Amino acid sequence: MKSSKILLIIAALVSASFASAADAAVSQKSKCDLKAEKAGKTCDHACCVAAAKDGKNCEKCGGTNVAAAKK
Ligand SMILES: [Zn+2]
Ligand SMILES: [Zn+2]
Repeated sequence: MKSSKILLIIAALVSASFASAADAAVSQKSKCDLKAEKAGKTCDHACCVAAAKDGKNCEKCGGTNVAAAKK
């Protein structure tokens, strides 16, 4: 019976570490994009517009793009 409890704890720890890994792998918008978004717009920087066309966040302005998870 004790070993099944240990297994449960290990499972909880593993799922928790998976969850935090997923959190870390989120694409971040650049600051100027977030600012523009708050104003209900999209950033008009040429680099940001180009990135948005590709469905990405502008990396020049501090945004990050996490490759889509392969399943
Ligand atoms: Zn911008
Ligand atoms: Zn930009």
